[in-house]
Parts: sequence; C-alpha cells; structure tokens
Amino acid sequence: MERQEIIQLLKLKGTERTALLQRAREVKIKEVGNKVYFRGLIEFSNVCSKDCLYCGIRKGNEKVLRYDAKDDEILNACRFAWENRFASVVLQSGELSSPAFVKRVDDLLKKIKQLSNNELGITLSCGEQSLETYRRWFESGAHRYLLRIESSTRELYYKIHPENDHHSFEKRLEALASLKQAGYQVGTGVMIGLPFQTYEHLADDLLFFKKIDIDMCGMGPYIEHADTPLYEHRHVLMSKQERFDLALNMVAVLRLLMPDINIAAATALQAIDPAGREKALAVGANVIMPNLTPCEYREEYQLYENKPCLDEDAELCRNCLEARISLAGAEIGYGEWGDSKHFHQRNKTNIILRNHQQK
Ligand code: SAM
Ligand code: SF4
Repeated sequence: MERQEIIQLLKLKGTERTALLQRAREVKIKEVGNKVYFRGLIEFSNVCSKDCLYCGIRKGNEKVLRYDAKDDEILNACRFAWENRFASVVLQSGELSSPAFVKRVDDLLKKIKQLSNNELGITLSCGEQSLETYRRWFESGAHRYLLRIESSTRELYYKIHPENDHHSFEKRLEALASLKQAGYQVGTGVMIGLPFQTYEHLADDLLFFKKIDIDMCGMGPYIEHADTPLYEHRHVLMSKQERFDLALNMVAVLRLLMPDINIAAATALQAIDPAGREKALAVGANVIMPNLTPCEYREEYQLYENKPCLDEDAELCRNCLEARISLAGAEIGYGEWGDSKHFHQRNKTNIILRNHQQK
C-alpha cells in the first residue's frame, strides 16, 4: 500500500468505512484465526525516571503516590494467570535502568518461570534498556517486548517528549533494533489523536511498522490527563469519538498491511467506549490484556483520564471479558501462548537465508 492510499483509508467514513472494517475482519480470520489471546497485565511499579509530556505517571507529576508492588503480590497475580490458563503475562512499569531495577526484573522472571513450571509466557514493557539488559532478561525467560515508538516522526516525537538525551528519538529507534537483536518478538505502537498529529503522520507510522518488520502492535487513542504538560493543547484535539473511530481505522489498515502479526486491543479504547476493546477485536485485533494489577495500586497507575476497571479484581475481570468476547463472536485461546505468526515466519525465512549463504 502506498502512503496516499493509506491516508485515504484512514479518512474513510460511513459505508466505505464499514467495508474497510469488514475486510480487515476477514483478513484477520483468514490469516491468524478467530481466537483472542489473553495477556494478564501487571503494572508492577509506577516509579519512572522519564517525563513524557502526555503521561499521568511521569516523574514530574508530584500528585502521584509512587508504588512498587511486592514480589509476592506480583507472583500471586502470575499464579492467578497460570491457574486460569491465561498462558501469558505482561510485566509493565515506569522506566528505570538502575542495576537494582535490572536485577529485580531478572529475579522476577526466573521466579515466574519457576512457579509456572516454565509454562507462562512473559512479555515485558519496561521501557528503553541497553542491549545487555535486554539479553539478560531474554535469557531469564522474557520472550516478547512492547516498546511503543509513540510517533515515528521525529518532529512530532519532540512535541510530545522533552528534547533531551533522556528522551532521545534516536535511542528509542536503537532500543527497538536491540530488542530484535536480542531475539524477542517485538511490539511497538503509537498513540492516535495526539495534538499536532496528522493523517500523514499516522500513515507514516503504519509504514514504519512495516519497514522495521514488527511482530506485534499495541496502539490506542491518546487521552488527555490534567496533570501533564500536553493538557494545555487539549483545545486542538479531535473529539474522543473521532479519536476512537480513527484508532479502529488504524487497526483495520494495519491488519491489511501486516496480516499475520499480533495486534492488541488497547485498554485506552475502553476509556472512551465501554465496548471499545471488543470493537477492536471485531476489526483486526487478536490480543487482549486483562488487568491483573492488585486493585490497591490501580488508582496510582492512571496514565490518562477515565482509565477503566480501577476496582475490578482479577476474577471479576476474567468473567466480564469472557462474556464480552463471546458476545463479540470470538473464542478465547485458553492455555495457548498465541505467539505472533509473523515472528515464526520471519525466523524461518532468516534460517533459510542463512543456510543459503553458507552454501
Ligand atoms: N514506561 C514504559 C514505556 O513508556 O514504554 C511502559 C509503560 S507506559 C505507561 C505504556 C504506554 O502508555 C506508553 O507507551 C504510552 O503510549 C501509553 N500512554 C501513556 N500516557 C498515555 C495517554 N495519556 N493516553 C494514551 N496512552 C498513554
Ligand atoms: Fe514513564 Fe512510560 Fe509514562 Fe514515559 S510513558 S513517563 S517512560 S511510564
């Protein structure tokens, strides 16, 4: 698909849009099936060294009470996931790179593997780290990593991040390359409906995903947070409904562009529409992240306004999702890792190429 064609698709409304969403649904079912895979999300710490201008838990937000869940609490959440046949968890946190943090995550990975008889798949989402750290965590059991590029346009990136060495666009790109080098299934994504963002930026984001050949994607609407610097630009935002609709168009176009990757139904969709995640599943997404963060911490992990499920414990959340997914006409892949088909495909191709070069 050319850039111009993508822009046209992103702008579609009415019956033409319905046809796009329907086509994406068909491609999803043909390429990756109709199963939805669970990744139990554990937001284990909101301590962050960064100051991204959009994020409610940025370092500079002094209103946030900082927490660090105890190992036992994290392991209990993992045990719940394993016993309920979620098959995978996502460990997410603010970004720290101290030796103590690196070791802590490393120890947790080993304990999670141990408690689940090596069965739980582990995705990490702990920000930018060195290649050495990524390798260490990979060897200890993590096999997928989510690091959103946030925007693939350098200029826009610096409108939503401070322009300094600690928020470097080039380092973000390097981190994505390091993740691939370390052997992870690599996921990235962007926020949709940011101030100053255009259809052209979003089309370039989709082409960027294709160019760096991602295995997974998580993207959802940008939602403003009053205690962040970007809030002052709220007057230039599209309405929340427009951001939501555009996010679904992005999911659909990405499914057409990269038919065999895993696409997550972002939680932020549900902050706008109670059935938001199910709507994304119906047009191309095939992964959902039920929140397993201990309830007492959820208030303090508010990246944006109206973050859903603040008081819904893991059991309630599972029951609620089961009902919603069956209503959406899909099946839950209980007990299955549901790895990115694209990842396995690209590994196969790499092996064939390597063998060919050796001959
Ligand atoms: N600290 C890690 C990082 O930044 O990669 C992982 C955690 S971070 C909270 C996860 C994602 O939350 C970010 O990649 C960002 O896209 C999303 N996020 C933060 N603030 C948001 C907002 N106001 N609206 C929508 N998504 C937001
Ligand atoms: Fe920290 Fe991630 Fe939020 Fe940026 S997006 S402030 S790195 S938690």
